[in-house]
Amino acid sequence: MPLFTRRKAEAAEEYRPLAELPPLPEPPAPGPTGLRSLEAHRKYLLSCVSELPPFRQNLLDALDLSLCEEIVAQVDLPRFDNSAMDGYVVRAVDVANASPDRPISLPVVGEIAAGSAALHRLSPGTAMKIMTGAPLPEQADAIVPYENSDRGTSDVRVFAPSAVDQHVRHRGEDIEAGTRLFAPGDVLGARDIGVLAGIGRSTVMVRPRPRVVVISTGTELVEPGDTLERDEQIYDSNSFLLAAAVRAAGAQVFRVGQVGDDGELLKRVVTEQLLRADLILTSGGISQGDYDVVKAVMPEVGVCDFASVAMQPGKPQGFGLIGPDRVPMIMLPGNPVSSFVSFEVFVRPVIRKLMGAQPYVRPTVKAEAAHAMTSVWGRQQLARGVVSYTDSGRCQVTLPGGHGSHLLADLARANALVILPEQTEHVAAGEPLDVWLLEELLG
Ligand code: AMP
Ligand code: MG
Repeated sequence: MPLFTRRKAEAAEEYRPLAELPPLPEPPAPGPTGLRSLEAHRKYLLSCVSELPPFRQNLLDALDLSLCEEIVAQVDLPRFDNSAMDGYVVRAVDVANASPDRPISLPVVGEIAAGSAALHRLSPGTAMKIMTGAPLPEQADAIVPYENSDRGTSDVRVFAPSAVDQHVRHRGEDIEAGTRLFAPGDVLGARDIGVLAGIGRSTVMVRPRPRVVVISTGTELVEPGDTLERDEQIYDSNSFLLAAAVRAAGAQVFRVGQVGDDGELLKRVVTEQLLRADLILTSGGISQGDYDVVKAVMPEVGVCDFASVAMQPGKPQGFGLIGPDRVPMIMLPGNPVSSFVSFEVFVRPVIRKLMGAQPYVRPTVKAEAAHAMTSVWGRQQLARGVVSYTDSGRCQVTLPGGHGSHLLADLARANALVILPEQTEHVAAGEPLDVWLLEELLG
């Protein structure tokens, strides 16, 4: 399916007046502290987006995508009895008494390579050369590997017996025709792609990679590679951080880059992007500041919900369904750490739902606190942690960096997010904690 035909709208500009768009579903009520719980907000976002419709994809391009069909093997694998070794195909009974001292000599009456057929059956008292993967001739039931022979060409001397079925791969022993191999929702890894190719599939029905547009907002932002001309300017790290995280989550990313704090410009850029977006991500501009334009103008082009979520970092959060096609848009806070943590907590699950990949949320792993920790009561803290294994093999976590949500280097050093629940204020050394591993741990 061509990229741009997934949306209904003819032209991005032709959006209906906002009054005609249905409102968002009722957002969850805030908790006793006046803040919305992280779980309630995530559940709300997930309830507002649907899985993308499936399409037929070439097998290799289906890597990491979620299957939308049941796959039943139509063939046996192996398709025919064949040799597991290079050597000689024999009848086991003919070599039963072979030994190094008393080798058995058999005439070599043929040769079968992988990809060639066994032309005739094996007569008693004879052998044929056979290569790995070549079909067994009728009446043969064992393989003598080269290592147990003198590698003879017209006659072969066999130095050891081979039992019936030795080094023989049987038809259907791997997969029997009619076996159900995959179910809808299975996410295809490299080995699954191998099996599918092995049973002859060249395409599969999968949900597509969501197309995610990433925009950062802020008049202070400068594209990396350009020159910082004034002291108050900074490089735009968020659009790169988020775009990379989108890609790592398995989606296709369009990094638009930075837009200044100009409401009209922002509306235009977002509207232009609707056509190629299954999800739009922005960073910045959703707090209480005078220049927080995202919050100010997005309700003019879509139905939006801005919430204070009981988490740290990442308290301000925005969500909308934008334009006539109601493209989901997640508006993240601008501080780099807040924006990344919000990505992990809300955006990654939404991307996974769009892709149809379960579970939406990362699995939690238990790790022991390596030292005492503190947290803010009433806010779920997602601290940047370093998880490692002790010499005795215990999984432990430290919080090496500072708390500031501007600390990019600490974020990059971390390999996990440590989840400190809303009611936690103190954690003693040795207490078990829930963590999300952000990368594979070696050792
Ligand atoms: P905001 O949420 O727009 O008020 O931004 C909060 C803080 O994050 C400010 O210090 C911004 O300069 C910083 N910030 C916002 N966007 C980015 C970005 N794309 N890259 C780096 N820092 C940013
Ligand atoms: Mg800003």
